[in-house]
Amino acid sequence: MNAILSTHTAYAYAKINLSLDILGTLPNGYHEVRMIMQSLQLHDTVTLKISDTPGITMTCSDASLPVDEHNLAYRAAALFCDTYHISEGIELHLEKKIPVAAGLAGGSSDAAAVLRGLNEMYGKPATADELAALGVKLGADVPYCLMLGTALSEGIGERLTVLPAAPDCHCLLVKPAAGASTKQIYTDYDALVQTTDIKHPDTDALLSALSAGDYNTLVSGLCNVLEPVTTGLVPDIAVIKERLQTLGADGVLMSGSGPTVFALFSDLEKVKRAEAHFLQTEYAPGTFLTSFYQPE
Ligand code: ATP
Repeated sequence: MNAILSTHTAYAYAKINLSLDILGTLPNGYHEVRMIMQSLQLHDTVTLKISDTPGITMTCSDASLPVDEHNLAYRAAALFCDTYHISEGIELHLEKKIPVAAGLAGGSSDAAAVLRGLNEMYGKPATADELAALGVKLGADVPYCLMLGTALSEGIGERLTVLPAAPDCHCLLVKPAAGASTKQIYTDYDALVQTTDIKHPDTDALLSALSAGDYNTLVSGLCNVLEPVTTGLVPDIAVIKERLQTLGADGVLMSGSGPTVFALFSDLEKVKRAEAHFLQTEYAPGTFLTSFYQPE
C-alpha cells in the first residue's frame, strides 16, 4: 500500500520585468541580458508529498500542460532526487494560476518552488547557492525564482543582485490570447537590431530610482527591448497598452518576451476601474489584478 510520509505546500510566484535589456550575444549563442525583476503575489501552488512508493508522479489543474518530464516542475523533482539520491517516491500536484507562455516565468517559478519545497522537506541538503546551481540547469530564470523580490539579473539571468524593494503599488496584468514563441522573438530581435534603432532602458537610472524609493522615476523609465518585436507579432499588445494608458496607469510595459502587458497604478480606484473595463472585453480570461511580492 502507498503510504504518505510527509506533505508540504510551496508557492510559485509570477514575475515581471521592470526593465529588460539585451547587451549582446555570447559565444554560446545565448543572449546577455540585464533586467530588473519583480515578483508578484499572483502564484501557482505546488503540493509535494513524499511516499514510500518509488518514482515521481504528477497531476496538474491545467489539462493542457504535460505531467511528465516535459513539465519543469516534474524535471525539478527528478533533478533534486537524482542529485541527493532520494529513493522514496514524490507525488506532486500543481495548481496553475499563472497564465502559461505569458512572459511571467510560470514554469521556471514552478520548478523553483519544487526545488525549494523538496530542499525544505529533506532538511536542507542544498545551500542557497547549490539550489541556484541546480536551478540554472532547468532554466535561466529559475535562480531568480528561487530568490524572489526585486533583483537585478545579468549574464543569461543567473547573475543576481538583491535590490531595494520596489515601491508598493497595484499591478494589473492583461494577456492577449495570441501567444508568441520566445525563440522566435529572440531571433526576430537579432534581425531587427540590424536595421532599427531600438530604445534601450536606462537601467542605472532605474537602479537609482529603486535606491531612492522614487516611484515616479521608476514608472516613467519602464522599458523592454523585446516589446517592439513581440508587438510586431501580436498587435493586441499595442491596443492593450493604449487602453491602459487611457485608463490612467502610471506606467505600462510588456513583461519578458510577452505577450502579457502589466500596468502599475498607485491609485486603487483607478486600477479597479481598469480591471472592470478589461473584465468586460475579450481580454477577460487574461486579466489579473495583483501587487508586488517581497520575501521576508
Ligand atoms: P518566461 O517568462 O520564462 O519566458 P513564460 O511565462 O513565457 O516563461 P511558461 O509559462 O513558463 O512561459 O511556459 C512556457 C512553455 O513551457 C509552455 O508552452 C509549456 O508547455 C511549458 N511548460 C513546462 N512546464 C510548465 C509549467 N510548470 N507551467 C507552465 N508551462 C510549462
